[in-house]
Amino acid sequence: MIFETMLSFLLSCGDRTAYAYEGSRLTYRTMLSGAATCFARICETGSRDPVVLYGHKEPYMKQAMLACLFAAVPYVPIDRAAPQKRVQAILRQIHPQLVIGDLPDAPCPVFLPGHAPDGDISSLTFRGRKPQDVCYILFTSGSTGVPKGVCVSYANLDTCVRWVRSLPQTTPACVLGQACFSFDLSVADLYLSLLCGAEHAVLTREEMRSFPLLFRRLADCGADTAVWTPSFAQLLLSDRSFSRSLLPQLRTILFCGEALRPATVRRLAERFPETQIINCYGPTECTFAVTAARITAAHTALERLPVGTAKPGVQIDVTDAQGNALEPGKTGEIRIAGDSVALGYLPPANNSAFLQTPSGRAYRTGDCGYFRDGLLYVTGRQDRQIKLSGYRVEPAEIENALLTLPQVHAAAVLPRTAPDGTVLALQAFVCAAPEDRTSDRLRQALNALLPSYMIPRIRFVDRIPLTENGKLDTKALWETPAV
Ligand code: AMP
Repeated sequence: MIFETMLSFLLSCGDRTAYAYEGSRLTYRTMLSGAATCFARICETGSRDPVVLYGHKEPYMKQAMLACLFAAVPYVPIDRAAPQKRVQAILRQIHPQLVIGDLPDAPCPVFLPGHAPDGDISSLTFRGRKPQDVCYILFTSGSTGVPKGVCVSYANLDTCVRWVRSLPQTTPACVLGQACFSFDLSVADLYLSLLCGAEHAVLTREEMRSFPLLFRRLADCGADTAVWTPSFAQLLLSDRSFSRSLLPQLRTILFCGEALRPATVRRLAERFPETQIINCYGPTECTFAVTAARITAAHTALERLPVGTAKPGVQIDVTDAQGNALEPGKTGEIRIAGDSVALGYLPPANNSAFLQTPSGRAYRTGDCGYFRDGLLYVTGRQDRQIKLSGYRVEPAEIENALLTLPQVHAAAVLPRTAPDGTVLALQAFVCAAPEDRTSDRLRQALNALLPSYMIPRIRFVDRIPLTENGKLDTKALWETPAV
């Protein structure tokens, strides 16, 4: 596995910049020293139970992740922005041995690496593990109302990162990430930078929220490779100064997480004519991504962009409702089989989307698509799952959260979409007694249960309309007046 040689490679990177965050730069040596501190603390317990990494993008998050990787214990990144009730729901599922970071009310010991002396790099070793052991657990939105923990093995991550490493045409020297570590998009920038001995530049929450700060940071970072969601690129494109003069070294942008639109690529190509654009596709359940397409000018004339061909070790089929592979050109459900398919969900989530096929272990994605000229295209979803600014959201999770509030009698959540299908916002339709119809109070109550990107706009209605079959009548719901 690639990780076995990683330690000696990282040691050889010595004084090169490893991580840039909030104006500070960490060398590879300092990063490993911090990792050694966490490694010593993890090894003290002797347990192989998961370790929670609680924070945002502070350097200790990456140091602790490396420590877990060397110590062969699963890591579970939880972003500080997650509401405490959600964090507690996650903790109940994983029974961690240790939390690294300042989590309040942790059910186990908490370790604050900043308060510990620098670690001894020479104490770092690569402890034995089996390829099928759990390497990390990432939580995604669950339609039952409980976040689902996806268990990814060392073998999954190994094959994924080798492939990601092969995507940029030149070896990256500085990789600019955008996602927080609890989102699987971050796996790409995190490991790409480690494998190349490159600088990993990450953006703070404040930089993400303020254009002046963000653009100053982009101008300073010197990134030659970026890993972004299409929504983030669209946000940047809304400012005219986002162009080659801002990021003169930018050679490759790797996109993943949601549909990349032809119009976005056309606008990017005008501003970054020499930058290569790669469209990747895949769910957390298949270790970040399983297909990639190098987007050309010819592609941007199409109605939708291809997501490309499967990585080695993966077989993708478009199937009918019985699971039979369909011929090219026919639209069906995308099924992914092979070495990227994760181990499954943590109990109590339902693992029925994982199955055994002649091509190996497979995952039914719930995504619809078709093959044309050997390339895969994604057309949408079979279920209600949506992507909002790259975040995966199950409307049912929001409905379940709304229904836990005593003032809510009934609720339904729908995406508000642009003509090209992009989800612009989440709209909740809520039935409540007249004295309880205060959207601010309702949103405040939801804040304690859901991450901020899942908080919908609220429209109070007198009933939730159903079709004759008793299903949600979405057309009638949009036409239902507010009360
Ligand atoms: P996540 O588990 O958060 O990475 O979300 C995975 C889902 O995002 C997939 O199942 C797709 O629905 C969607 N997705 C990811 N990449 C793409 C892409 N390039 N084009 C269209 N949809 C995508």
